[in-house]
Amino acid sequence: MKRALFLGSLLATGLVPATAAAQAFTYDPVGQLVSGSGTGREDQQVYAPGMRFPIENGPAFANSQVYGHGGYLGPGGGQCDEGNYSYPWQDNYCETRQWDMPLCPAGNGHQGQDIRPGTCDDNTHWGVATTDGVITNVGSYSVYLTADDGTRYDFLHMSNVQVSVGQEVKRGDRLGYVSNEFGGTATTIHLHFNIRQSVQGLGSVYVPPYTSLISAYQKLIDAPATGALESAACGGIRGWAFDPSDPEVSPTVTLRFGVDGTAEEQTVLADSPRDDLCENLGFCDRGFTPGAPLSLFDGRSYSVQAFVDGAQLDGDDVTLACEAPELEGVLRSLGSGDAAEDAAGAWRLSRFWDAPPAGEVEDQVASLSEGEDWPQTPSLVQDDLGNLYLDEGDLLRPLDLATARAWRLEPAMAGTFNPEVPIGAPLPLRPVLLEKDGELFVLDKPLRAGTGSGGANGVDDDGVDPGTIDDGCSCRTAAAPRSNAPAWLWVLGLVGLARRRRR
Ligand SMILES: [Zn+2]
Repeated sequence: MKRALFLGSLLATGLVPATAAAQAFTYDPVGQLVSGSGTGREDQQVYAPGMRFPIENGPAFANSQVYGHGGYLGPGGGQCDEGNYSYPWQDNYCETRQWDMPLCPAGNGHQGQDIRPGTCDDNTHWGVATTDGVITNVGSYSVYLTADDGTRYDFLHMSNVQVSVGQEVKRGDRLGYVSNEFGGTATTIHLHFNIRQSVQGLGSVYVPPYTSLISAYQKLIDAPATGALESAACGGIRGWAFDPSDPEVSPTVTLRFGVDGTAEEQTVLADSPRDDLCENLGFCDRGFTPGAPLSLFDGRSYSVQAFVDGAQLDGDDVTLACEAPELEGVLRSLGSGDAAEDAAGAWRLSRFWDAPPAGEVEDQVASLSEGEDWPQTPSLVQDDLGNLYLDEGDLLRPLDLATARAWRLEPAMAGTFNPEVPIGAPLPLRPVLLEKDGELFVLDKPLRAGTGSGGANGVDDDGVDPGTIDDGCSCRTAAAPRSNAPAWLWVLGLVGLARRRRR
């Protein structure tokens, strides 16, 4: 059953030739190199137990580039030869090279392991972080990731590198595409992967990566994540995901939205708390509840699928079909040009998630009035009771945890509450990003106490609020009334709740 799920999902992503998907994973013994390519190291030690496999999805094929098909000392054929994209894996640590390698029988050799991704396609497969850590070097085609324990993981021949030196990354974060970059002359499409560790008596050296890779790869392919895409509605998407091979970590879920033979993929983190998951999984924070992507509110019907590490989550025939949203409220400018893009970035706003199709809402946007400029960066504060507010400087805007999540704001970063600052209308339940004449705007509800009007959620209830009510979590508190807040604010909030419940 697990196997069937795994294969099905890979075929669905179109990344894998059927022959490769049909193979069972096998590998030659550690230290057994291609005949005539040098002497390997027969060492069963797993130097990096628990590391994640360095390529995002399986299958992957560890074997020699130089001595394989398409290599200059290989048996002929091109690099895309099926033989290169087949099991068994072959060790090529210590393969004949001139690098000083104290752990190799010859005293020199190849420093790591070459790994081909699932298909012979350039710029398609992601190299990902094997562990939480810090990026300690980025070259023109290389990335070094150093873990807290000092182990360094090297990724070579990558393109489109996504990280910079000093950046902290999480296990599974995308570092760059597996490619054939090699300075000037291209190599074959593969990831050259090293593990560097301190070894007693030798200092920091390249250790054999093959056994660690086998262990990580078996976890990747044998224990696919479980979970479900439960629903996709205009009010929000809902599901959960759990990775048994990495239970402590909230999985990254890839959501795929398909229409007319094309698909858009976006990732979300399954880290929303849900009571029902606590009992079943032993972990509460494995839900995902993003708002529906406003850019798809064009009246068409999109198929929606969810994947973790290439394994599809349960949930067949989930579709999302939403008409253009009805926009109510005021436009608040983020500016234009680079400044607006920077501000949108600081707010973690996304054209995919937050911006309805321009052509569908053009007339509505033209008719909306403009308010004050939107703050260039978000700032949260929290009072003694734990209530959250967006700090606009001269006004505090209440929001609950679900709304903070919808706005991608981090409650943990909240600053100190100042009771002198007046309280304004609650923040809209989700961000809406609009564009007019090259200027970017956030859609807000009427701002100041006294200017509010009924139901002012910024966006009409017809579908755009993120479904914050029935997400099954009692761990979240709605923003409770503060004694000095005008009563009408809370009445409005309750009206909003009642209206949503009715549907
Ligand atoms: Zn190599």
